[in-house]
Amino acid sequence: MSTICKNIKVIDNELYFNNFKVTDLAKKYGTPLYLMDENRIRENINIYKSALKNYFGDSAMMLYASKACSFKYIYKIMQEENVGIDLVSSGELYTAKKTGFDLSKAYFHSNNKTDFDISYGIENNVGYFVADNIEEVNVIERECAKLDKVQKILLRLTPGIDTHTYEADQTGKIDSKFGTAIETGQALSLVGDVLKLPHIKLMGFHCHVGSQVFEEDVYERTSEIMLGFFSKVKDVYGFDTLEYDIGGGLGVRYVESDSVLNIDKKLKELSDYIKSKCKELNIIVPAFRMEPGRSIVADAGMTIYTVGTIKKIPGYKNYVSIDGGMADNPRFALYGANYTCMVANKMNEPLDFKADLVGRCCESGDIIQKDVMFPSSVKRYDIVAVATTGAYNYSMASNYNRLPRPAVVMLKDDKDFIVVKAETFENLIQNDV
Ligand SMILES: *Cc1c(COP(=O)(O)O)cnc(C)c1O
Repeated sequence: MSTICKNIKVIDNELYFNNFKVTDLAKKYGTPLYLMDENRIRENINIYKSALKNYFGDSAMMLYASKACSFKYIYKIMQEENVGIDLVSSGELYTAKKTGFDLSKAYFHSNNKTDFDISYGIENNVGYFVADNIEEVNVIERECAKLDKVQKILLRLTPGIDTHTYEADQTGKIDSKFGTAIETGQALSLVGDVLKLPHIKLMGFHCHVGSQVFEEDVYERTSEIMLGFFSKVKDVYGFDTLEYDIGGGLGVRYVESDSVLNIDKKLKELSDYIKSKCKELNIIVPAFRMEPGRSIVADAGMTIYTVGTIKKIPGYKNYVSIDGGMADNPRFALYGANYTCMVANKMNEPLDFKADLVGRCCESGDIIQKDVMFPSSVKRYDIVAVATTGAYNYSMASNYNRLPRPAVVMLKDDKDFIVVKAETFENLIQNDV
């Protein structure tokens, strides 16, 4: 039995997720269906919250990177937990605003904010822009000047760090599309330009080096470069960096072979490193920000499907088809992401049948996972559960093949309730003229 998530267990051949029998939820709501475990989301938040408070002090704050999973109820949880949020678009801002989220705790990212994004953010009193480049800063300055308003910003820098994860998951290398490079001297001159602008209040610096990070010292190596830069900026401009935002990226386990991360321990070590380095460089210790997305919601999610066709090609390979696929989970199609897949109503049977778990879209690349071991009795109407789908699944879903997006059901204590309704056919054509 898989031990991939803390919130799953097996009783009498049946899979349970946060104490709910998965096949009961499939009967009640239909499939495909996204399940989310609110208890788990809050536990994950609290791992960060308490570690940040214990090791970085009261000035530290967690920002949930809401692109990992964005719908109204998620922002309500973040508001209740009193954490900040990252936004990467005006659509995310609108969603957060509609729940009454306090946008002074919102950080507006993106490597290419449009003029609309910038005006919309300012109009809605977003706490911070995390500006990627001088063009954006100039537009923020121009718009704030019109309103005679001063806007807080962080500058996104590229520290030139290789996280040794997937190419698509790397964002901190010098040649990245994100941020301004430190090594080329561009970051230092950018700071000089920004400090001259009367309607911009530069609070500090941001970086985000990648995702699915497990490697031991990535955040220390990143901090060495960032803090070195803070010290340089102090020498050149007399500027004290008040905030240091190290981004997100801590890895989660999708399959048994993924390592286990101890977030608390990692943050303690990082805090020790930052404090001693600041002392060595004789700079103030900035207020610390961390922006986890995946590690807050990934293991709080599970997607369930109904098995349809089983195709066996003797001497070649086998397929198990389900009633969802790349439209609700494009991550294998995009970058070969790993997942643990289970037959929820046959959990104790031996796994002796190898097949690709594939979707119903008209693409050969519509695969959830290759080479999955199933019980050989797997057949039409069985329920397949794919674990750890809380991050970058619902938020990346599409209507490809005009498939309506599935509902999201939240599980909290002994209650299950819909937080995003399933799309209807009518929803599919609502904007068609
Ligand atoms: C995507 C992103 C994050 C979150 O990354 P995770 O791997 O989901 O933790 C944080 N900060 C920024 C700027 C991002 O783009």
